[in-house]
Amino acid sequence: MIYDKDADLEKLRGKTVAIIGYGSQGHAHALNLRDSGVDVVVGLRPESSSRAEAEREGLRVLPVADAAREGDVVMILIPDERQAEVWEREIREGIAPGNLLLFAHGFSIHYGQIEPSSDVDVGMVAPKGPGHLVRRQFQEGKGVPGLAAVHQDATGQARELVLAYAKGIGCTRAGVIETTFREETETDLFGEQAVLCGGLTELVRAGFETLVKAGYDPRLAYFECLHELKLIVDLMYEGGITGMRHSISNTAEYGDLTRGKRVIGEPSRRAMKEILAEIQSGEFAREWIAENRAGGENFQRLREEGKRHQIEQVGRELRAMMPWIANRG
Ligand code: NAD
Ligand code: MG
Ligand code: MG
Ligand code: MG
Ligand code: MG
Ligand code: MG
Repeated sequence: MIYDKDADLEKLRGKTVAIIGYGSQGHAHALNLRDSGVDVVVGLRPESSSRAEAEREGLRVLPVADAAREGDVVMILIPDERQAEVWEREIREGIAPGNLLLFAHGFSIHYGQIEPSSDVDVGMVAPKGPGHLVRRQFQEGKGVPGLAAVHQDATGQARELVLAYAKGIGCTRAGVIETTFREETETDLFGEQAVLCGGLTELVRAGFETLVKAGYDPRLAYFECLHELKLIVDLMYEGGITGMRHSISNTAEYGDLTRGKRVIGEPSRRAMKEILAEIQSGEFAREWIAENRAGGENFQRLREEGKRHQIEQVGRELRAMMPWIANRG
């Protein structure tokens, strides 16, 4: 683990950090670095709606190409599937020998979508939390843990600069784990596909559908299979699986211990291994890149299908009864 004492912000002194993109991660990195005394410039499209917001914060905003040129350190925080085209069109030329190119996720580099020349440093600082938490924790004097990696060290200074950046956004306050682009990319994709997003949404819908098909009230099915998840996840977040099991009733715990493995059994574990293999071989990346090149029609169709599921309708009605929930649907 790398902590504050292991990283030196002085390494960034005299350098300009260009933050490309001002979304979830972009705004947090730009503001935290600025508050850490680093010279920051934000690169945005001229028509970007974030421009006014960044300027209101007193940040200097330039077109992407100009920011990339000014930056000695250039952090790319636009969506992963847009990075390659923006790189070719607006960033590549501005990256001078000895500059440090940074990412918050390894996809573009690991799958060869961006191939920086060998005379620049390439690294990663990936906070393990959404941008708003990265910003809020920093303002409270704390930080979100992060991952750091060096893909290419042309100057011999890459690691120290990467760690200085991690310190500037607050990650070393909590702790930074050093990793590789390959490990970060593959575990991140696997986590979101098999567990956090793909696995979880299908688990919830399968439970909901099972109850509704058996004739139960869809509102009760929603509460039991989706709404209560938050409670359970919060307990796991704070105390792991053991902490969660300590808080639930003994009846719930016995049901958990004796039934869970029937839901996620050998077939699911086999599917997880296959999904991991597709990530490792680059098959998933090729599919996702091709989907975007083709205009993302299939992606859009799947998205719309998901929105029409009965659980979404029921959820909207129930969430309207719970004013304490920031209703985003
Ligand atoms: P986001 O979608 O919140 O923000 C993207 C930003 O890029 C916006 O400011 C948008 O206006 C801008 N943008 C989009 N297309 C552009 C273009 N063609 N040219 C210039 N700017 C453009 O993105 P995010 O979630 O902050 O993700 C950024 C990076 O951070 C990704 O690599 C992602 O994997 C990584 N990351 C995200 C999180 C997270 O929790 N959101 C966590 C860790 C790492
Ligand atoms: Mg530059
Ligand atoms: Mg992730
Ligand atoms: Mg991800
Ligand atoms: Mg219950
Ligand atoms: Mg118990």
